[in-house]
Amino acid sequence: MNTTDVNQKTESEILIDEGDHDRFSHYARKADIVESAVTGKPVVALCGKVWVPDRNPDNFPLCPRCKDLYEQKKTQEKN
Ligand SMILES: [Zn+2]
Repeated sequence: MNTTDVNQKTESEILIDEGDHDRFSHYARKADIVESAVTGKPVVALCGKVWVPDRNPDNFPLCPRCKDLYEQKKTQEKN
């Protein structure tokens, strides 16, 4: 019984472990990302996701929704 409890606890701890807060890199305003790097505060991404930018965003694939929104924005700015 005790062993099972410990195992379950460990599993849930792994799930919320650092690095699992998100499996994507998101687009956010550069100023927000810079501030987050200093303060450690989460930023709001283009897709609405609140997340703390990783120091190595290349470790994660780009969030598809952020990519879509970014492309849309770029297109709008051109017109
Ligand atoms: Zn996103």
